[in-house]
Amino acid sequence: MDPRELLAVKRDGGALSADQSAEFLAAYTRGEIADYQAAVLLTSIFIHDMTDVELAGWARGMIKTGSTLSFKTERPIVDKHSTGGVGDKVSIPLAPALVACGCCVPMISGRGLGHTGGTLDKLESIAGLKTEFTPSKLQELIDEAGFFIAAQTEDLVPADKLLYALRDVTGLVASPPLISSSILSKKLAEGLDALILDIKVGSGSFLTTAEAAADVRRRMGVIAADFDLPITIIQTSMAAPLGLTVGHALEIQESLECLRGEGPADLRELVELEGGELLRLAGIAVDRAAGRAKIAAALDDGSALEAFRKGVTAQGGDTSMVDDASALPAASNQEEYHAPLDGCFSFADCAAVGRAVSALGGGRRRLEDPIDYSVGLVFKRRAGESVAAGEALCVIHHNEGRGLAEARSLLDAALCITQTPEVEPLVLDA
Ligand code: URA
Repeated sequence: MDPRELLAVKRDGGALSADQSAEFLAAYTRGEIADYQAAVLLTSIFIHDMTDVELAGWARGMIKTGSTLSFKTERPIVDKHSTGGVGDKVSIPLAPALVACGCCVPMISGRGLGHTGGTLDKLESIAGLKTEFTPSKLQELIDEAGFFIAAQTEDLVPADKLLYALRDVTGLVASPPLISSSILSKKLAEGLDALILDIKVGSGSFLTTAEAAADVRRRMGVIAADFDLPITIIQTSMAAPLGLTVGHALEIQESLECLRGEGPADLRELVELEGGELLRLAGIAVDRAAGRAKIAAALDDGSALEAFRKGVTAQGGDTSMVDDASALPAASNQEEYHAPLDGCFSFADCAAVGRAVSALGGGRRRLEDPIDYSVGLVFKRRAGESVAAGEALCVIHHNEGRGLAEARSLLDAALCITQTPEVEPLVLDA
């Protein structure tokens, strides 16, 4: 194949056939096409977009670059995915709650990206917990615990691994066809019976407007329909962080609260909503309300927590941290951030909250950077609440002042006080 012919098709605004996409993606994955050539194609896709037929062919081509997973289990195989946000820890209580309700959950998850934290990084704040496994070990984890939350294996959509890294360094992440095919190809390769996708909308998401989110939602529906995958796609707000904590170990602590039937209401709401809908799609509950009731019961009766403990053990983690959250990594210092004036607490820029945690050491600026699991923010107030000048809005968990000044100035941009309450509903479209 001469890649220049394909590049010219997309450069001139044409559409690639499914065969052309598959050929290009296979050759790129084998190392036969240079990154600069792939970057040219991605740029043309970014500018000219893709037709629905072309998009489905591209997603198939991505999946064909590797092998797909297939698990031996009697249980329905389900999964969820979110497009990423600040404080989004839903997967951590949701996966074991689904297992407690009779599902099997092979969750391939990601690392932190941009201002958003990654589920794998959060879980790795539990000492010893591993997230990189071979396909045969993934089957063992399913046999032992009914779920795993793990990294993409070497052979699962390898084209996405390469293209994602290329998009990240060439400013080509925020493209609706590239986002939807990247996410769906990985989920389709898991061999699922049902999937729920949570598209985050707002200043803490990669999709800041309702229009952009609706566009990605429609395209994901197109790809899923082409594969006959039962799917529900919801849109939820990322105008404010989810829950009261942002930062790896702090978010594990909050996830454990949720698994004990406690914790913040917004986190519990999304776990119940997404879990309830998956139980309906999997045929375990007659409708979403019945599914929600089952998930709620699993959180309240300790069965979801027990399933989580089994998963942590299977992945090599120290379960004493599950039973005693004070054993999780903790920062050496805490300092309050105060409201500058009287009024209503609001988030002006939720992404800047994520960047503040990164500045404290809780994020990577380069792929090889180590993460400080202990740092982060604990909010004392929710968006829309009245506050008085000088009152603590959040507590900054830092280590010896590292990144503190930068985090404080990011919080100055992220948080604001308004005259009237500004609160967006959590669930925008479900
Ligand atoms: N997450 C992914 O896996 N891919 C994207 O393109 C964006 C978010």
